[in-house]
Amino acid sequence: MNEVTPIESPEGRPARVRKPDWIRVRAPTSKGFNETRKLMRDLNLNTVCEEAACPNIGECWTKKHATVMILGDVCTRACAFCNVKTGMPRVVDLKEPQHVADAAAQMGLQHIVITSVDRDDLADGGASQFVKVIEALRRTTPDTTIEILTPDFRNKHEAAVEAIVTARPDVYNHNLETVPRLYPTIRPGARYYASLRLLETVKRLDPSIFTKSGVMLGLGEERLEVHQVMDDMRSADVDFLTMGQYLQPTPRHTKVIDFVTPKAFDAYAAIARAKGFLQVASSPLTRSSYHAGEDFAEMRAAREAKLARQAAR
Ligand code: SF4
Repeated sequence: MNEVTPIESPEGRPARVRKPDWIRVRAPTSKGFNETRKLMRDLNLNTVCEEAACPNIGECWTKKHATVMILGDVCTRACAFCNVKTGMPRVVDLKEPQHVADAAAQMGLQHIVITSVDRDDLADGGASQFVKVIEALRRTTPDTTIEILTPDFRNKHEAAVEAIVTARPDVYNHNLETVPRLYPTIRPGARYYASLRLLETVKRLDPSIFTKSGVMLGLGEERLEVHQVMDDMRSADVDFLTMGQYLQPTPRHTKVIDFVTPKAFDAYAAIARAKGFLQVASSPLTRSSYHAGEDFAEMRAAREAKLARQAAR
């Protein structure tokens, strides 16, 4: 089990788990924050920063970093950890790809992260909208590097992934989210090995695209289970691992079982590096897209250094 900070009830049972000091973040108020919010509203764009109630929104939006969530703000799944609304989504916005590109241009982004809700209602799961967004970005801001964070495209993953890989994003991210034992309760609509296969498929189709995946900690996973997830990712040749603390967005979402200490996050990071990931981000406030631009630059440099070492042998 991870390191825990429980508060015990008088009977000695863990009554609730207190949010430790290292999780607290400042309220989101700054000129940059307000400008980012206005731009998203003006271009009719949703962000996962808001929809997922991300704790880093104050920091990221102040620096004009936002993760755009395409294909609407209503998801066809109901994962126990996620704050995004569930229901029947609206029709796809055909202007959205250009609006995303306009946002990247106006914010002067060197690196952009695009994600989406799950769209099990669409024949291609929404893959063609990802492709259109990548194409609009390449036309409008050709120097911006593109990271996409996709759903699992359940039952259509091969064709959907192939279409997106052909559009050539720089980074393809798909999160495993948790250890396989917890899937039935945490991610009931998904299959662990299908998600792993998706990551494997990206690398098989185009080894030059960086692959990335992440897990949330604090959901009751065991340490050795986390190590096994790392091994599974490495066997799928995943380049970049992110690990962050799960936070319960509302009382109706799954509870935090434990708060993993910053020291334990560092220990996980050391193990992950030893297992061969090119890049590892591991801290309580790490999220898939947190510091994504800086991490991408480091990962690209790490790959170049690795290739140079191999060539010198
Ligand atoms: S970490 Fe990602 S989701 Fe959270 S505020 Fe920053 S860009 Fe948005």
